[in-house]
Formats: sequence, structure tokens, C-alpha cells
Amino acid sequence: MRHFHLWTIGCQMNKAESWHLAGMLAAAGYAESPRLDDADLVVLNTCVVRQSAEDRIVGTLGLLEGIKRRRPAMRIAVTGCFAARDRTALLAKYPHVDLFFGSGEYAAFSEWLDGSQAQDAAGDSRARPCDEVEVRPPAPADDAEDASGVSMYVPIIQGCNNFCTYCIVPYTRGREVSRPPEDVEAEVRQLVSRGTKEVVLLGQNVDSYGHDLPGHPSLAGLLEQLQPLTGLLRIRFLTNHPKDMSPSLIETMARLGKVCEHVDLALQSGDDDILRAMGRGYTVQTFCRLVDDLRGGIPGIAISTDIIVGFPGETDSQFENTYELLERLRLDVVHVAAYSPRPGTAAARRLADSVSEEVKAERLHRIEVLQERVSAEINETYVSHPAEVLVLGRRKGRWFGRTRTDKLVFFDAEDELGGRLVSVHIAQASPWALQGQLVYNSPVTVRRNPSP
Ligand code: SF4
Repeated sequence: MRHFHLWTIGCQMNKAESWHLAGMLAAAGYAESPRLDDADLVVLNTCVVRQSAEDRIVGTLGLLEGIKRRRPAMRIAVTGCFAARDRTALLAKYPHVDLFFGSGEYAAFSEWLDGSQAQDAAGDSRARPCDEVEVRPPAPADDAEDASGVSMYVPIIQGCNNFCTYCIVPYTRGREVSRPPEDVEAEVRQLVSRGTKEVVLLGQNVDSYGHDLPGHPSLAGLLEQLQPLTGLLRIRFLTNHPKDMSPSLIETMARLGKVCEHVDLALQSGDDDILRAMGRGYTVQTFCRLVDDLRGGIPGIAISTDIIVGFPGETDSQFENTYELLERLRLDVVHVAAYSPRPGTAAARRLADSVSEEVKAERLHRIEVLQERVSAEINETYVSHPAEVLVLGRRKGRWFGRTRTDKLVFFDAEDELGGRLVSVHIAQASPWALQGQLVYNSPVTVRRNPSP
């Protein structure tokens, strides 16, 4: 039997696409290999949103070059944002790669797979690029050992029209393309029929969903459409854009019992001048008003966010504005990254990367320390209360799942609980997770967690 190894970095969209590629490879008769150097076919699914990710790709391609020298029959395919660049130039620079194909170009990958199997038989192995696009897949929505399909990613919109000045996504994934609501519903129905209990609707900007489709369906409308599906217990979505999140979406979230009390709302900076230079399209004041509306409309809602430190020209006082805003808003989770220029973006073309790496690292560390404290304090409020947990699987012998507010919960139990909604009495909290005891004989229905 032939073996494939799939190496994935990047966002949930990449994970969703890798899941689909793994399914295609299994259907083509390949078995998965955990080791890169044992595989007959290696697929790298890449991300170039940050320089550090790009460095890892280049390092892995170097490693593969050495392996391929020893085992010339091994095939290498590269997809994702790295492969969105000039493919003729990529093939010239990395001649040991057999195929570069863009995100979601499954038809092209499938055709190449068929052709390469035939070429293997004929002893011919030529590299070529491809340019087709189609198909969107689901994937398990938790990174860990949960491959059970209890929670699944469902992409609903690809690409982005926003062109934030630092971001490479509109160049690598193209403009927004939404899936028709009936297509999304059919996929969710199919997933539920196979045991899925939760879907996470994905998009670079889910709030833009539907504007490019006939009749302009909205994310709120899609949530209404999915809410009645029997067997589906929870619905989540990410990522939201503060300038596009509508009052009607908040009202719909508050009303629909299956829609979880959690949003991922990228702030990026707490300084208006930096937000303007980033091209984000909102101010600190409008972001704060949105947080107030969410917290007022949806009691107990958890809000996670993204922050970039060291954007070109960010002064000490502009950074302090971000720090103080985060301290004041007390969001549940903050993903923080240091700015790195991405070739081709407006910021990389027009603005000098003026903040030193040392200062970026110091600012990043300060936000991490602040957020560790804030997350610990928020999570502590769950202690001594029951929480409704959707059980996703086992990790190191313990059951784990998530609350409606997306808190990771660990607990012990003998019973088989995968895919069940259970009540867990929370006994301990850390900034990253909750620990508790299963409450036996406590039937859990689909309902909202009490406000912590
Ligand atoms: S909204 Fe901005 S940061 Fe997000 S994907 Fe689009 S361009 Fe990139």
C-alpha cells in the first residue's frame, strides 16, 4: 500500500482543506503515515500570514529536498497560501516539488493524483502547476486527537475583499465567494446524519457571507436555516469583522438556542491611528460599542480577539493604548502576534518595518502576561458552577469538551461519552482550561450557560 503524509499549518480554513485532501487520498487507496520520511506522497498545506510560518515551510521544503535525493520516487505537492504565488517561479526555485496547487483546487489535485499514479507506472515524473478551483470540505473542528467528527468545520465563504494593509489573504485566497445556503444546509444535514453535533461555519470574514449571491442571504439567515435541524446541537462561526458585524446578527444569536455564546472578533490594535494605517475600517470607540452590544444582548458571551504588535510606526504610547484597552475590555482570549511584512501587501510596499524585533518581542510578552491574568480571572468565575459541555473526545485518558463559551473542559468518567452533552461541575480553572467532575443523572438539554 502507498502512504501519504499531510503537513498542515495555518488557519481553520487550511485544516478544513487538509481534512478534505486526506479523504481524497484515502479514496485513492493511500494510507496515512505519521512520518514525513516514510511517505510515498507528501502534501504540504501552507500559510504565509506570518514570516515565521513561511520560514517553517522553506525549512520543510529543504528537508524534503534531501529525502527526495535519497528516494526520487517520492512525490511532493504543495498547496495553501505559499502555492498561490507565481507557480512557474516556485517550480524553478523548488524543482523537487512535483505540484503546486492553490487552496481548494481539489479538481486539479485529483487529476494530478490520477495522472501521477499512471506516470509512476510508466516511470515518468514531471512537475507542473495547475489553476483550477472548486469544492469546499468539512473538517473536525478541534485540533487534538478528536477525529470523531463530533464538531466539524464547514467553510461558508472563501477569500476576503477587505485588503487590510498588512494582510496577504486577499492576494492568496482571492475575493469573497460564498456558498449558496442550500449547499451549506445539505452539507450540515449530511454531517449530522453521520453523527456530527456541532458545526463551525468558517470564513475569513463570515459577516460578509452572502453579499455575492442572488438575493443576498446573510449569516443571520443561514443560522435561522440551520437552527431547526434535528440532531444538530450547537452552531458556531468565525471570524467576525468589527466593521461588518450587524445588530441583526447579534439579535439572531441571542434568540437561537443552538448558536453558542462566543465570537471571534479581531481588534488588531487599540489605537485609532494604527487602525487607520491598517485599513481596518473602524475605531476604538465603535469596537467598544460592539462589545457592549454583544455583552448586553447575549449574557455570558465570550469574546476572543487578535492583536498585532509592532505595526510600522507603532509608538510606545500607541502600544499602551492597546494594552490599556485590553485591560479595560477583559476579553476571554487574545491571540497576539508580532508584525512581519508580507511581500505584496500595502504595508510592506509603503511602510518601513520600523519597530525593532526586540521591542516587538517585549510588547508581545506584555500582552501575553496581561491576558494570562485576565483569562485566569474570567475562568475562575466558572469554578463551583455546572457547565454544559459537548464531549469531543479523549486526551491522555481524560474526556475533554467545550462549553458553549468555548472553554476547554477536562473531566474523568468511565462511560462512553463522545458526542454527548453533559453537565460538568467545575472545580479548578487555569488561563487555558477548566477541570471538573461529571454530574451524573443531570439531563442536559440545549440551553444557555448561566452567566459566570
Ligand atoms: S479582514 Fe483583513 S485581516 Fe482579515 S482576512 Fe481580510 S484582509 Fe486579512
